[in-house]
Amino acid sequence: MNFAFPAPPITTLPVAQGDEVVPVRRIYCVGRNYAAHAVEMGSDPDREPPFFFSKPTDAIVAGSDKIPYPPLTEDLQHEMELVVVLGSGGRDIPVERALHHVFGYAAGLDMTRRDLQTEAKKTGRPWEMGKGFDYSAPCSAVKPASVVGHPAKGAIWLKVNGEIRQSGDLSQQIWSVQETVAYLSRFVALAPGDLIFTGTPAGVGRVVRGDRLEGHIDTVGELTVLIQ
Ligand code: MN
Repeated sequence: MNFAFPAPPITTLPVAQGDEVVPVRRIYCVGRNYAAHAVEMGSDPDREPPFFFSKPTDAIVAGSDKIPYPPLTEDLQHEMELVVVLGSGGRDIPVERALHHVFGYAAGLDMTRRDLQTEAKKTGRPWEMGKGFDYSAPCSAVKPASVVGHPAKGAIWLKVNGEIRQSGDLSQQIWSVQETVAYLSRFVALAPGDLIFTGTPAGVGRVVRGDRLEGHIDTVGELTVLIQ
């Protein structure tokens, strides 16, 4: 194959405790998957089936690192999330088979230009520029399910400059990982390397240049991001 110009690099995430990496194919994100966060965003958590949006694959920032403050926003916000990494895929995956397709889990940040997202919501326009910008998906190393199992409970928190901003438990997810995988597979064919950011607990908020974000999910991983 003769590329007219160099092909883009493959986006990867390291596998924790080893020398392997996971190739990333697509990034799906679930909106409003914790009741308390749905309420803080002005929705009724009881009435909504899960909904999805995407980020571009190369929005991934692998492992703890610095990220630049993005352009055209004055309201960059953090959303700490459990990330599901698929090792296989398919369409119309039954709920009871869904976890067989999960390779592992990671701790991720769905960084959001909230002012652009809010404006898009108001005007009925797409969320991409609020959600899918450069460096918008920092993500830890991947902990294989063969090591960590399939955590359905455990603390998930985020500190900014040492202070707790978000604190929740994976058991508070409205839609479980297996339900989310199964439901998403009705809309699109899932494949190895697909990531699913599974939504954020309450406490999202603004960050500024110089802030240090530290995220943690019990047994899954940790992530530190500096905003530059
Ligand atoms: Mn999110």
